[in-house]
Amino acid sequence: MAQETHFFQSEAAELLKMMIHSVYSNKEIFLRELISNASDALDKRRIEVLSSDEYGEYEARIRIERDKEKKTLTITDNGIGMTREEIVDYIGTIAKSGTKEFLSAVKRSAADKAEKTDKNSLSTQEMLIGQFGVGFYSTFMVSDKVELVSRRLGSAEAWKFESTGDGSYTLEETTLPECGTSVKLYLRAPGEGEKEEEKDYTDEWVLRDIVKKYSDFIGYPIVMNCTKWKDKKETFEDEVINSQKAIWYKAEGEVTEDEYREFYRHLSHDWQEPLTRIAINAEGSVNFRGLLFIPRQAPFDLFMNDRGGGISLYIKRVFIMNDCKDLIPEYLRFVKGVIDSEDLPLNISREILQEDQRVRVIRRSTLRKIFSSLRKMLESEREKYETFWTAFGRAFKEGVIRDRENAQTILELSLFRSTGGDGWTTLDNYKSRMKPEQEGIYYLLGRDVSTLKGSPKLEAFSDKGYEVLLLTDPVDEVLMTQTHDYGETKFLDAGSGSVQAETEEERKETSKKLEGFEAEFAPLKDKIMKSLGEALSDVRLSARMKSSPACLVSDENTMSLQMEQLMRAMGQNVPPGKRILELNPEHPVIRRLMELSRSGDGKVEDFASVLYDQALILDGAPIADPGRFAHRLADIMNLALEVDKK
Ligand code: ADP
Repeated sequence: MAQETHFFQSEAAELLKMMIHSVYSNKEIFLRELISNASDALDKRRIEVLSSDEYGEYEARIRIERDKEKKTLTITDNGIGMTREEIVDYIGTIAKSGTKEFLSAVKRSAADKAEKTDKNSLSTQEMLIGQFGVGFYSTFMVSDKVELVSRRLGSAEAWKFESTGDGSYTLEETTLPECGTSVKLYLRAPGEGEKEEEKDYTDEWVLRDIVKKYSDFIGYPIVMNCTKWKDKKETFEDEVINSQKAIWYKAEGEVTEDEYREFYRHLSHDWQEPLTRIAINAEGSVNFRGLLFIPRQAPFDLFMNDRGGGISLYIKRVFIMNDCKDLIPEYLRFVKGVIDSEDLPLNISREILQEDQRVRVIRRSTLRKIFSSLRKMLESEREKYETFWTAFGRAFKEGVIRDRENAQTILELSLFRSTGGDGWTTLDNYKSRMKPEQEGIYYLLGRDVSTLKGSPKLEAFSDKGYEVLLLTDPVDEVLMTQTHDYGETKFLDAGSGSVQAETEEERKETSKKLEGFEAEFAPLKDKIMKSLGEALSDVRLSARMKSSPACLVSDENTMSLQMEQLMRAMGQNVPPGKRILELNPEHPVIRRLMELSRSGDGKVEDFASVLYDQALILDGAPIADPGRFAHRLADIMNLALEVDKK
């Protein structure tokens, strides 16, 4: 079969060029990347074999073959393999978001550097390669030519990919006795004037060291042809060079931070260090071990539907499946790690998992352990906790709605913005600052904290010294309305018409005072309802505001503005709900409007409509007719500036 020439996708070619010219000093990581790919391929084969009786027995392994004379290094696995299309898609193209992120980070920092021209700084490229791990392409840091031969499980065809990294590669059909992938590196000889590569990647001890450092925990044997001396003659013998010791079975003191870091990287493909690590060793009705990590940053797809979970299930140290959703609730989908139990049968399937009593026990105690380590972090490492919260708080809070059993614990671990300051607060802290007569935990929903802070609805609350939580996440409204209380303390919506910053006594007094205005107010009310009746369910006087003239509140039966907007964003056709316009009878503008409407002044409607639009703006909501609003505002300015008289 003829050889076909293909071109790398332009981003891939760019990355390759970068690898070839890389001055990165830690080039040995190419081996970590190849072994990690091989291990993933073996995991995938295992999953496919478990779910079908078509395939027979096989002995999973990763092989390293070195040839000192020819200066080649070959890494072979008998994993899932790739079809011709998969080679083109996965190797010839960059699909992975991490790698794209890498490229844009390189470009960004190159631009930064051009500005700063800081000659002493470490090569950015160098730094970034270390952070990201750029997969298969890292082989080009040490090779002149790379050959990849692969045969997909279940296929008879094998394909050979070959490239010198110069922008193109060739593909040609070939044969392989079994499925899997083999990657052969033609190690680079130093060019003219270049010094010899510091490390000889065909040297047994160099390779042993690298494997030990990065890949010791890999769950499949890594076999290498090692030198043995027999009768003073050099021979080669296969030897397993990784301990395969599951890191989660080791006591924490036996594992170095570096080993944990490498394991996390292997597991998560995340180039940053994890935020925290949670080790579980549970003994009881079901024995299991777990090693979980909370990343530092949320992945881009945290809120996409059908996103996989981050937990891999092992049984007796054998990999069974990844993305095991039954071991951890969905609101903790960002947690990465492994759970390994001796008490589950090896042939367990995803369907059985859901029903299995033992799995439920594992899930419950894993959850407890996660909560307790979050609580510890909240108490003793506040800054770290806030990093956690900023990245994952929105997902975590979903638990209040989805996991009623643990709702109070999740609330206890939740952080909120409030009028009490610029930072985050817990509900317990909020409660410790509550005034003795305060009836509950007040909250106000809105689009963003700064809009909320300027809301007239807060005036009476701040006047009394009551703190109000400022809630801006879409999930917050459902969370508050479904939860009702935290411990014994009620949640109260400061934006609701029926909630006031008053005690029972004060309420009586206020309503007496407001009644005093009713007669004066009647003509204005009438006029406003006539002109704005479509948008409003009521206009009334209120003591909610101190310095503002008007605001909009919702009544219990209408959807809030935020919810309306959220539903519309989700494509639902929601008619605008009617709201209550509250006016401050102590405000000079309102007093004057009451007077004017008694005397039948025609401008009153215009003023009222400006008040209404301005109340909408204060809620962060769109106004129906911005043109009309601007027009009326200009008229008002004319009046105020006495333009007509000039
Ligand atoms: P990453 O492994 O981080 O996704 P790579 O560039 O190393 O990035 O590999 C790209 C893809 O190529 C992998 O996700 C995998 O689908 C495929 N691949 C690489 N190596 C192998 C292998 N040994 N066996 C099967 N598939 C592989």
